[in-house]
This record gives sequence, structure tokens and C-alpha cells, in this order.
Amino acid sequence: MIHIKDLHKSYKMGKNSLHVLKGINFNVEAGELVAIMGSSGSGKSTLLNILGMLDVADEGSYQLDGVPIVNLNETKAAQYRNKFLGFIFQSFNLINYKSALENVALPLYYQGVGRKERAEKALMYLEQVGLKEWATHLPSELSGGQKQRVAIARAMAAEPKVLLADEPTGALDSKTSYEVMDLIQKINDQGNTILVVTHEPDIAEMCKRVVVLKDGIILEDKKVNQVRAESYVQ
Ligand code: ADP
Ligand code: MG
Repeated sequence: MIHIKDLHKSYKMGKNSLHVLKGINFNVEAGELVAIMGSSGSGKSTLLNILGMLDVADEGSYQLDGVPIVNLNETKAAQYRNKFLGFIFQSFNLINYKSALENVALPLYYQGVGRKERAEKALMYLEQVGLKEWATHLPSELSGGQKQRVAIARAMAAEPKVLLADEPTGALDSKTSYEVMDLIQKINDQGNTILVVTHEPDIAEMCKRVVVLKDGIILEDKKVNQVRAESYVQ
């Protein structure tokens, strides 16, 4: 699903340049649930942003579902993002003046789905994350965990090939974090490919594979025995 070879990324800082990714080689097959770990500043978000076509690498190749991601202009990148990827962020990134339903329906609008079908689909995804009754509520009326579930429903609504989550539990307490991970695991159980950036070991253990970034390279890449979040959320 994802094939990355010799990826490099530096940030220019005046005269200096900060070499953040120093040759990343990384493949993800369909259906995987991968944690990307590493200390703060190790380049996790940089890598995820490149995978998400929000940023571009300086060197190396990237293929997503057989499509080479190279030299995309803004329009093409936006098109590919909408078609291939769903994003989940630490800070939820919901639109404050839109209801839960409207937030989930937004990617469908960008895909050109008609109003009625948009609303039906969005409601179905809200139901999947257990928030059907909250459809008409604004983000400000929802708890942190509920907001993240709306964001997950929104990411799912476009039926992406890959879900990219950058510290999805970073703003949540432990119990709520495990509820969100329970949902992420269940979405993965349905065959969806998911990458989760985290610096929390307990969250990483809820994935099936852990990749550790350090000093710009992959220090470790190992399969793990997945801890099920469900056992923590009763
Ligand atoms: P992580 O997500 O692992 O905490 P990041 O990928 O956000 O790390 O950042 C890696 C390094 O690159 C950090 O030192 C950070 O300060 C730097 N960095 C990230 N984004 C930029 C940017 N847009 N411009 C300059 N430096 C950046
Ligand atoms: Mg980060």
C-alpha cells in the first residue's frame, strides 16, 4: 500500500539546515495498523505529513497504492489526498460552526457527493462511532473523546485507502485514549490500513507493528502482540 525508499527531508533555517529524515525505507501492506514512535522532534509528524502529501520530501520515492507520488501541484495533491487519505489530528481540527454531521459530510462534499447522500452517509459513519444522537451538535457541545470520534468518522467518510493519525490520543486522558484506540482497532479489524503517530508506549502496543524513529532513521521496526483496548474501556 505504502512504499517509501531513501526518503530525506531537511528544513532550511536561515543559513543552516536541519536534516530531519535521513534515509527512511518503509513499506506498509494493506490492513496493517502501524505505530510510529520516537521522542519529540524525531520527525514523526514530518514523515506523516509527507505520507499525507501535506509536505514533500527532498529526496527518495513514495508510492501509494501503486501510484507514484511525485511532483504534484497543489490541485493534484488535494485531489489525491481526498481520494487516498483520511486524517486524524491531536487537536481534532473540526470546524467549530458546523454540526457533527456537517463536519463528517465535508469530505463527501469535496468528492462531489450530492446533499442527500452526503447526509445519509455522514449519519451512517456517526452511527459507527456511536454518535448518531449527537449529529446536530456543535463541536463545542462535545467532549474531547466525542470530538475525536467525529474526526474519525470524518476521516472514514471519504473511504480512504489509508488513515493517518498524528497523536490522536495526545489531548485525551487515559480512559478516553483507550476508547479512541478501541475504535481505531475496530476500524482496522474491518481491513483498513492505519498509521498512528504516538509517543505513548501503551498506545503503540495497541497497534500491530511499531516503527521507532531516532536521529532521522528507523531505529527499530517490529511486529507486536496487539493489546486490545477494549479490555480497558469497560
Ligand atoms: P515530531 O513530530 O517527532 O515531534 P517533527 O516532525 O514535528 O517531530 O519535527 C522534527 C524536527 O523538525 C523538529 O526539530 C522540528 O522543530 C523541525 N521542524 C518541523 N517542522 C518544521 C518547519 N516547518 N520548519 C522548520 N523546522 C521544522
Ligand atoms: Mg509531531
